[in-house]
Amino acid sequence: MPAPPTTPPRVEVRVDLDAVRDNVARLRGLVAPAVLMAVVKADGYGHGLVEAAGAARAGGADWLATATPEEALALRAAGDAGPLLCWLTTPGDDLRPAVAAGVDLTAYAPDEVAAVAAAARAVGRPARLQLKVDTGLSRGGATPAGWPALVRAAAAARDAGDVVVTGTWSHFACADEPAHPANDTQQAVFDSALATMADLGVDPGLRHLANSAAALLRPAAAYDAVRCGIATYGVDPAPGAHDWTALGLRPAMSVRARVAMVKRIEAGAGVSYGHRWTAPHDTWVALVPAGYGDGVPRHASDVAEVLVAGRRRPLRGTVCMDQVVVELGPDDADRVEPGSEAVLLGDPARGEPSATEWAEVSGTIGYEVVTRMGGWRTVRTHHGEVDA
Ligand SMILES: *Cc1c(COP(=O)(O)O)cnc(C)c1O
Repeated sequence: MPAPPTTPPRVEVRVDLDAVRDNVARLRGLVAPAVLMAVVKADGYGHGLVEAAGAARAGGADWLATATPEEALALRAAGDAGPLLCWLTTPGDDLRPAVAAGVDLTAYAPDEVAAVAAAARAVGRPARLQLKVDTGLSRGGATPAGWPALVRAAAAARDAGDVVVTGTWSHFACADEPAHPANDTQQAVFDSALATMADLGVDPGLRHLANSAAALLRPAAAYDAVRCGIATYGVDPAPGAHDWTALGLRPAMSVRARVAMVKRIEAGAGVSYGHRWTAPHDTWVALVPAGYGDGVPRHASDVAEVLVAGRRRPLRGTVCMDQVVVELGPDDADRVEPGSEAVLLGDPARGEPSATEWAEVSGTIGYEVVTRMGGWRTVRTHHGEVDA
C-alpha cells in the first residue's frame, strides 16, 4: 500500500518512458544484427517493471529478461506475451507456472534440468530452457568442469521431450573495464563451452554473453543477443571508459522534491547529525524532504549536489532518513522558497545531477542509485507517449 498522495508529490520519481523506448531502439541499432534483450529485473531498475517492459517492447526489444520467475510471471500477468528469460531460481521453487507461461528458465546444474523437466511433465508441455556456463564470474552457472554434465542432462531432457534448449549464455565480471584481461578469458571459455555443446550434439539456441557495458565496448561479444539493463534506462554502465554522451542515450529517471523550509543560519552553526558540516559564514539553507528512507544514498552526505531554482547547490551535512539540508548560499536565497523544486537526479544535459555523478561522489554505481530510489513515501509517475 503506497502512502496517501500529496499534491504535488513531496518526492516524485518521474520516469520518462519515451526515453526507455528510444534508448532501446538506439541500442538495438548499435548491436544489430544481434538482437536486444532488455533487462527489467528489480522493478525495472527502480523504473517500474511493467512500465519499463512496455516501453522496451515499444522500442523494439526482441526479448525481455528478469532475474526471478516471479518477475517474469508479473510481466505475463500484465499481458506481455513475447520472448522472456529469467535466471534465478532456488531449490523448491514451483516452476510450473513459468513453464506454463512459456517463460524461458535457466539451468545452472543438472538438478535444475531435472526440476524443469518435472515441471514440464506436470504442465503437459515442454519447457523452454537456457543453459548458463560460468566463464569466470563465479556466480551462477556451471563451471567449465561441470559444463559437459549440464549439457548432457539437457540433451537427455530434450530427447525425452521435456525441454527445448532455447539458449546458451554467460555473464562478464569486468565488462566495464574493457582492457581487463578477464574479458578475453571469459569469451574464450564461452567459445569453448559452445564447442563442447557442438561435440555433444546440442544446438545452443540463442547465444548471449554481453551486458550493457560489453554491448557498447566489446562488439565481438555480441553473438546472437545482448542483455542490456542499465543502458536501457540511460545510465552509463562504464563511466570513464568511453564517450557516453556521444551515444545519445538519455536518462529515464528524475527525482524531484519540494523544498520544505528555507532559513538563514549563522556562521559556526553545525548542520545535521554529527555536525559533519559547520557553516563557515552566515548562509541560507533549504530543507529537502527526501532521505535514505527514500533511496538517497547516505554516503552522499556532504558531497552530492542538488539543483534548486536553476542552480547547483551543495548538500551539507549528513543525509538523514527523511530529509537533507542543501546550502543556498549567502546571497541567493530569495529565489528559493518553501515549495520550490529541488532536483536530486535528472538529465545532466539540463544541468541536473546524474545518477553517475551521485554514484561517483557516494562510492557506488549508477545502478544502485536508480534502483534504490523510491519507496512507500514517494510517488512514482510515468510519462511519455508510450502507453504504460
Ligand atoms: C543484471 C544483469 C544483466 C544486465 O546488466 P547491465 O549491466 O545492467 O546491462 C545482464 N545479465 C545478467 C545475468 C544480469 O544479472
